[in-house]
Amino acid sequence: MLNVKVFIFSPIQENTYILYNEKKECAIIDPGCYFPEEREKLLVFINTNNLVPKMLLNTHCHLDHVFGNKFIAETYGLILHLHKKEEGMLQMAPASGLMFNLPFDNYQGEFIFLKEGDSIFLGEDKLDIVETPGHSPGSICFYCRDQHFIISGDVLFESSIGRTDLPGGNYETLLTSIKQKLFSLPDEVIVYNGHGEQTTIGREKKYNPFVGEMAV
Ligand SMILES: [Zn+2]
Ligand SMILES: [Zn+2]
Repeated sequence: MLNVKVFIFSPIQENTYILYNEKKECAIIDPGCYFPEEREKLLVFINTNNLVPKMLLNTHCHLDHVFGNKFIAETYGLILHLHKKEEGMLQMAPASGLMFNLPFDNYQGEFIFLKEGDSIFLGEDKLDIVETPGHSPGSICFYCRDQHFIISGDVLFESSIGRTDLPGGNYETLLTSIKQKLFSLPDEVIVYNGHGEQTTIGREKKYNPFVGEMAV
């Protein structure tokens, strides 16, 4: 059974997730902690709950999702999991950091690549990898089928969708990902996204203003 903890980090207000089970094993997804006090907050949560970090995961590698990769990897000896198509995004992230006046040290370690159909395990709990390109070419979601939630990155938001004007973004591809991959999930699935409030698949199918454009 996984618990989901969210933190909102950096001036870009990114949602960082910690998933943890009853054995105190945890996965850290998109560590966007930028400032020292944000990193401290993450450590305090991990320490006070006696969690043992087992995995470092990125939904995609825009700067706001990777600020804390190096810090988490070095603190806990973890290897970064990501989609192969995000490798280039990760390399570009520090340059975008300079453009946003948010310089940072990038993760320099090895990679474990994830793709559609793969599953990863935190103890007994399984997360299925769902490829959802469009916002970024290698965007992936982590779907917990048993508990009806998905960590979706910047693909689908409450009443909105991810932007597609960044390098490698594509509007049609994003709509196709949402329609074919996300909207085929059960309505009750909770969407823990990269920015803003969580939502559900059912709610977005009904109220998302972009849904009309997905009628194919
Ligand atoms: Zn993004
Ligand atoms: Zn983002």
